[in-house]
Amino acid sequence: TIEYKDKSILVLGLAKSGFAAARILTQLGAKVTVNDQKPIDDSPEIQELHNLNIEVIGGGHPPDILERPFDLVVKNPGIPYSNPVLQKAQEKSIPIITEVEIAYHISEAEIIGITGSNGKTTTTTLIYEILKEGQKYPLISGNIGTVACEVAAKTTKAEVLVMELSSFQLMGTRYFKPRISVLLNIFNAHLDYHGTKEEYGKAKANIFKNQTKQDYAVVNADDPFVMELANDANATIVPFSLTRKSENGAYIKNGQIIFKNEPIIDIADIVLPGRHNLENILATIAAVKLYGVSNEAIRRVLQTFTGVKHRLQYIETINGRKIFNDSKATNILATQTAIAAFSEPILLLAGGLDRGNSFDELIPSLKKVKGVIAFGQTADKILDAAREAGINLLKRVDNVEKAVIAAYDMSSEGDVILLSPACASWDQFKTFEQRGDMFVESVHKLKVD
Ligand code: ADP
Repeated sequence: TIEYKDKSILVLGLAKSGFAAARILTQLGAKVTVNDQKPIDDSPEIQELHNLNIEVIGGGHPPDILERPFDLVVKNPGIPYSNPVLQKAQEKSIPIITEVEIAYHISEAEIIGITGSNGKTTTTTLIYEILKEGQKYPLISGNIGTVACEVAAKTTKAEVLVMELSSFQLMGTRYFKPRISVLLNIFNAHLDYHGTKEEYGKAKANIFKNQTKQDYAVVNADDPFVMELANDANATIVPFSLTRKSENGAYIKNGQIIFKNEPIIDIADIVLPGRHNLENILATIAAVKLYGVSNEAIRRVLQTFTGVKHRLQYIETINGRKIFNDSKATNILATQTAIAAFSEPILLLAGGLDRGNSFDELIPSLKKVKGVIAFGQTADKILDAAREAGINLLKRVDNVEKAVIAAYDMSSEGDVILLSPACASWDQFKTFEQRGDMFVESVHKLKVD
C-alpha cells in the first residue's frame, strides 16, 4: 500500500479536493507542500494551511519544484498529465495519485464506486437514498456531496461510502478497490482530455482493476464497450439491461423490474422519467440488492424520488401540467435525452449562451415537441431549428421568468412544461443552478397569480 506518514507529498492544484487532501495528509503525519496556478491570497483556507505548517507555492507550477525529494504527488483530477510538473514526476517515477486513492486508504467503510459518461450523479444519489431508507448507514461523496477523502476520514465500519467517480479521478488510482463498482455507460465524451476512446475506457476500467471474485461489478449489458472492459474484470459480474433478461442481474419484464428472477417494482410506480433513468435505476437496484436492502425500502424511494436537483427534476403539477427542471442540460445531447423521456406533448423552454454552434442536431428531437419558448443569446437560432422541425407554437422572450409565464399560457391539461436549455447559462446567470432556481421560483409564482 501507500504510506503517508513522514513522507514528503506534493499536492498539485488546490480547489476543494486539494485543500481536503492537504489537511488529511498532514493529519496522517505527512510533510505537505501545495502548489497552485493561482497566486496565493490571504483567504481563510490558505491561512488554515499555513497554520498546519503546510508550505504553499502559488502563481504557477515551477518545473524545478520536483528537484526536491518528493515521495508522492496528489494531483487535482482536472490537471492533465502533460503538465510539466507531472511529466517530471513520471520521469522520476514518483507515484501520482488523486484524492480518491487517499479516500480508499483511510475509509473504514466499504465503498460503492459509480462511474460512467452520464448518470453518475443520479445513480450515486439513488443508491445513497435507498441504502439510507434501508438502514445501511451510507455516506456520499462526489458532485452533490463532499470531497471523498474528507468523507472517508469520518467513516466507521458500520457504514457504506457511496462514491461518484469521474474518469479523471480514476486515472489516479493504484490500490483503490470498491466492494461494488458500477459502470453505467461510455460515450464519446471527454475525448479532448483522454485522447482516444480506448484511453478513456482504460481510465474507467481502473474501477475494476483491484477487485477480486468476492467483489461485484455492476455493468450495463446493453453497452458493448462496457462489456468489453468488464470482460477483463476479476469481480463477480452483475449485469443490467433494458432489453434482455439477465439471469444474475437486473432487467425488465412485463412492465416490472426484476432482479435475479425476483420482481422488485412496477415501472409505472417510478417517478423519474425516461429510459436513461431506467438504466440508472436498474444499476441502482443491482447495487443495493447486493447489500440486502428490502424491496419495500427500494419501492418507497423510487415512488417518491423526484430527481436530483436541476437534472430532469419533477417540480409539481399545476392544473394538469407536469413541470420539470432540467437546467443542467447545457448541451444538445442532454436536451435530446430530456425530450425523449416524455410521451406527453412538451412545451420546451430553451436558450442561453451562444457558443457559435448550430442547433440542427436538435431538429429531429424537436419534431415531437408541441411548442418552444426561447430566451437568451441563442433564442433566434433555437426558434429557427424549431421552425425547421415544423413547430408553429413559438415564442421569443427576454428571460426565464417570462418563459415560464408564456409556456403556461400556451399549454393545455396533460402537457409537460420542460426547462432543458441545450445551452450554458452564463449569458444571463452565474451558474445553471441559479437558472434552475429562477425557473422553479417562477413556476411557484404561477399559482399565486
Ligand atoms: P453525470 O453525473 O454523469 O453528469 P447526471 O446524473 O448528472 O450524470 O445526469 C446528467 C444528464 O445526463 C441527465 O440530465 C441526462 O440528460 C443524461 N443522463 C443521465 N443518465 C443517463 C444514462 N443512463 N444514459 C444516458 N444519458 C443519461
